[in-house]
Amino acid sequence: MKDASPDRVFIFDTTLRDGEQSPGFHLDSNSKLRIARQLEKLGVDVIEAGFPISSPGDFEACRRIAREIRGATVTALARAVREDIDAVWGAIKEAEDPQIHIVLSVSDVHINRKLGMTRDEVLKRGAEAVAYARSLCENVQYSPEDAGRADPDYLVETVETMIAAGANVINIPDTTGYCLPYEFGELVRRVINEARGSERALFSVHCHNDLGLAVANTLAALSAGARRVECTINGIGERAGNTSLEEVVMLLRVRQAKLGLECGVNTTEITRTSRLVSELTGTPVQPNKAVVGANAFAHASGIHQDGVLKDRLNYEIMKPEDVGLSDSKIVLTARSGRHAFHHRLNRLGITLVDAPADAAWQRFLQLADTKKEVTDEDLRKIAAMSETTNGHEGNGHPPVTDQLHDHNHVADTLRHLIFG
Ligand SMILES: [Zn+2]
Repeated sequence: MKDASPDRVFIFDTTLRDGEQSPGFHLDSNSKLRIARQLEKLGVDVIEAGFPISSPGDFEACRRIAREIRGATVTALARAVREDIDAVWGAIKEAEDPQIHIVLSVSDVHINRKLGMTRDEVLKRGAEAVAYARSLCENVQYSPEDAGRADPDYLVETVETMIAAGANVINIPDTTGYCLPYEFGELVRRVINEARGSERALFSVHCHNDLGLAVANTLAALSAGARRVECTINGIGERAGNTSLEEVVMLLRVRQAKLGLECGVNTTEITRTSRLVSELTGTPVQPNKAVVGANAFAHASGIHQDGVLKDRLNYEIMKPEDVGLSDSKIVLTARSGRHAFHHRLNRLGITLVDAPADAAWQRFLQLADTKKEVTDEDLRKIAAMSETTNGHEGNGHPPVTDQLHDHNHVADTLRHLIFG
């Protein structure tokens, strides 16, 4: 475990384990290695490579990642049984900084209905597993599964038992995405304050997004003293997914002055990482996704475009360059204004003034009403058609405008008239 200032938040990426467990997200060994290399560039502190006991392919993927990755802790998941722990250790022992991650339920609903055990039996099994893992590896993380729905007193007892058994990282999961932010923050604060030996452990959290609160709950836990965050690229993961890495990282950065926390992620690799995960899992990112969605830095309305072109601070709280994008996207639609229109023309090396500019603007408005987005190719054609417009031939408007407003087949006719 790394020494750190009290303000340092460690980023634990579980894209390759929890993320890969989502339906339809299977990754082969080569794809996992490619993502792990990109996570190394991104600068995460911990990479959870997989669940080695689950299949020979996953064991091999974890082993390749452990052998190759440097500069990040490599961990993998085990249930609290020797067979799983042996598989994890076999897969990750060649890592520069290996860690065994053990998970065992703590909520009564899981203990009774999933495990069919008593609380005491669970404590004993967990402690034995931790002690065994510690006999193999210096770094052992214990996750009391479904902590968000557990009896807090039993959770505290569990945490102190596992620290006493040798766990040096305690990860509190809201496995079902059930908690409210203040509730989860309070739970984490209570565990840190009440569990004996908590000063010897690093506290981590693992939140799910079933009610859209994964990032909010994570933030509440950081405010309560947790200093490690489990998260995934694009927020992928079981069901509605995990805490989104890019959202937490940019939250820490954009609101650094208020939160006083920092992490070691190189944010300019965020977009590249997001795209790689999307490509290799074959799953697109929703366009309005915070930070990495296609529209996260796109502006379409005239008022916003004009504001952003005058000064980005008007409508952007972070710079696209900070997440590795080259620029904000000015999308030309029927709601765009002249400022944006000429900005985009200028970027194509086209400057129009006077009558040609008016003609081009009218042609643009006509076309924009017929399609979702006006492209660079459309702009070049509009400019070419308008360049020779002579101001003495009237007001510079193309003659088709008024006639066409009465038409029923505006879209098709306009395209035909404008572009032939
Ligand atoms: Zn999970």
